[in-house]
Amino acid sequence: MSDAAGYRYAELHLHLGGAILPRVLWSYLQRERMEDPEGTFARESQGLVEEFGEYALFEKFLTRDCSSLAEYLEAHKRVEPLQTVESLPYYVYRLLRGAAVFENIAYIELRYNPFFRIPRDTPPNLVRARMEEVVSTVGAAARNAQRRFPIELTQILCMDSRLPNELNREIADLAADMPNEVCAVDLAGPNEPYEARRKDFVSAFEYAKGRGLKTTAHLYETPQGCIPEILPLVDRIGHGIQIALAHRSLLVAIAGRGQCLEVCPTTYLRTGTFKSYAELHPVFERCFDLGVDVAICTDNMAFHDVRLPREHELLLLNRALSFADMERCRQAAFRHAFRWNPAGEKAAT
Ligand SMILES: [Zn+2]
Repeated sequence: MSDAAGYRYAELHLHLGGAILPRVLWSYLQRERMEDPEGTFARESQGLVEEFGEYALFEKFLTRDCSSLAEYLEAHKRVEPLQTVESLPYYVYRLLRGAAVFENIAYIELRYNPFFRIPRDTPPNLVRARMEEVVSTVGAAARNAQRRFPIELTQILCMDSRLPNELNREIADLAADMPNEVCAVDLAGPNEPYEARRKDFVSAFEYAKGRGLKTTAHLYETPQGCIPEILPLVDRIGHGIQIALAHRSLLVAIAGRGQCLEVCPTTYLRTGTFKSYAELHPVFERCFDLGVDVAICTDNMAFHDVRLPREHELLLLNRALSFADMERCRQAAFRHAFRWNPAGEKAAT
């Protein structure tokens, strides 16, 4: 595709937890507390309001710099319980409206773990049904936004490095059983459990592939997150920067399989991996030398307050990419999208 959607963008790696602007999260919270002070949502968010007290402190917590990936993921833990079947329509609609109007985005693959968005006390026999409701709600809210704004959304369901195998399998089954809403599965969560559970995660991806799913995984983001046996089982690689930095011999096979790296520049500054965008230059250079495609993504744009066009621009300004290579990455994102439909996009514009 030589000119995918003009100069618009495809976002391949965006977490629902970090996609909703702190202001939007806070607004919903305040609105619910005013409209229904005795409601479940108001009661459950009470602790959060008491802890932060005012919006500025809430925003500061979600957008702070961290010294590790584990610390960075703490913000998700606070946000996930706020994203329920009741509140998701409000959030998803605003996410797509902002992405279409302010960010020039044509296509989003939104990823999240449905289990972290159902009530903690859900009986085991109802977990599957509650997770299904979450997926259907996100899909319905997206279709509502798509009627008004020229943007496409599909979902990626995340398995998690902290969850037991049965639950990760249930998430893969849910993804496979809802093909109209879900395009793929991912593995997310802290990298620390990866080494001890490598067999579990290899089996999880073998299972997902067996069910006909597209796959991506958070791999080689940090030195603790490296499982080479998963690489042949994924269609794309979430982050993968450690491959280019410390495991360069793997790049040949990655090029051979036509896999794409989902690189999220601002994340590496927020998690303490890099001090500047310029440090990504060798990652791009080593990938391009062997013909490995890279898509630029935001990961958690609302926590970073760096939108997708700005991620590209920052790489250009810091000489991590030339203009031509920046454009190459923008087009690669459309090419490696799991469900990009240019005909549908044209019809919507
Ligand atoms: Zn991520």
